[in-house]
Amino acid sequence: MGEFKIRDSWMPFCVPDISEAEAEAVGSAVRSGWWAKGPRTMEFEKRFAEYVGAKYCVAVNSATAALHLALVTADIGPGDEVITTPLTFASTANTILHVGATPVFADIDMDTGLIDPKEIEKKITAKTRAVVPVHYSGLAADLDAIGAICDAHGLFLSEDAAHAVETRYKGKLIGHHPRNTVSYSFYATKNLACGEGGALVTDDEEIAKRVRVLSCHGMSASSWNRYGKEGSWRYDIEEPGYKYNMFDIQAALALTQLARIEDMQRRRFEAVRVYEEAFADVPELIVQKTPDYCHHSRHLYVLRIAPERLTISRDQFIEELKARNVGVSVHFISLHTMSTYVKRFGYRPEDFPKTYAFSESEISLPMYSTLSVADAGYVADAVLDIVRKYRK
Ligand SMILES: *Cc1c(COP(=O)(O)O)cnc(C)c1O
Repeated sequence: MGEFKIRDSWMPFCVPDISEAEAEAVGSAVRSGWWAKGPRTMEFEKRFAEYVGAKYCVAVNSATAALHLALVTADIGPGDEVITTPLTFASTANTILHVGATPVFADIDMDTGLIDPKEIEKKITAKTRAVVPVHYSGLAADLDAIGAICDAHGLFLSEDAAHAVETRYKGKLIGHHPRNTVSYSFYATKNLACGEGGALVTDDEEIAKRVRVLSCHGMSASSWNRYGKEGSWRYDIEEPGYKYNMFDIQAALALTQLARIEDMQRRRFEAVRVYEEAFADVPELIVQKTPDYCHHSRHLYVLRIAPERLTISRDQFIEELKARNVGVSVHFISLHTMSTYVKRFGYRPEDFPKTYAFSESEISLPMYSTLSVADAGYVADAVLDIVRKYRK
């Protein structure tokens, strides 16, 4: 390979995939005059449930909202413990605190970054009420193993599928006949994006009904149409709910992106192949393993460095990438090191040694459907250039 040449323009870590269809769908939603929750949101709920193979879908305004409502409908509250992974975004555990329960972290598997079912088992006490596994980066957590633990101890299973719109477990999409609830994110950086948005899917009619009511103030169902001729001005508040519903301008975007999901995935996979070829057999780099049972959605491209083989730290490695005009991120800064969790629970970094080591050596490379093969090649060359320069 010749001398590495730094490109002129900045390559962002992530950009949404916008086609003319998104712009038209939003324009038509705006012109329709139906701006709040309405027919497009209903249509999205129907289509998304069909797509994943679940009986019910309630569209909400974030995965955070969905994760919160899942715990509320399971009647989890003060005195209860909920087991989750520390290698996640804050809302996975924040929502456990929001219902007044205690998040209990279980360490991960180093090869994948997924919560380790054996570690879950170790953390079960008489107070444990639920498990919230994360389908990290687009891999599937081991749902059979986790489901068996939940069955044995009577626990609620709330899956965090923020990364997992196209993820498959043993051939079936995540969300296909879920044991309890599955929460998705349609945040701007996610595989299916509508700016801000989320959904909860379930096969349980009671859960679906309660989530629907709770997502809209606790108003009796179907009140979204109370201004229509068929609607009624009279409504009841069944319990103090939240303002969590999706609305039609979001749904217009989400519907368009759902129709393009396979195509967007196919293009991400082309970039993945470039990375995989470049990083195979580089001892300074550790690539993520995909368990046999799983189809990886490739929401994130997770790369780890082997710190003992390099003269620079992970943080310096990121600075070197930035100097080469490559935007990257870290997924995730381990939650047990965040100040509010340290203050509340007195965690030390070494309390979850695998998560900590993983988190401290991880770099998420650009991975999105508009990333060209040439751009992925540039990123790979930049990574390899840094490795060559700083290997021991
Ligand atoms: C993005 C994300 C969330 C939160 O999603 P929002 O839709 O922004 O609320 C939750 N969990 C994980 C693992 C995420 O990456």
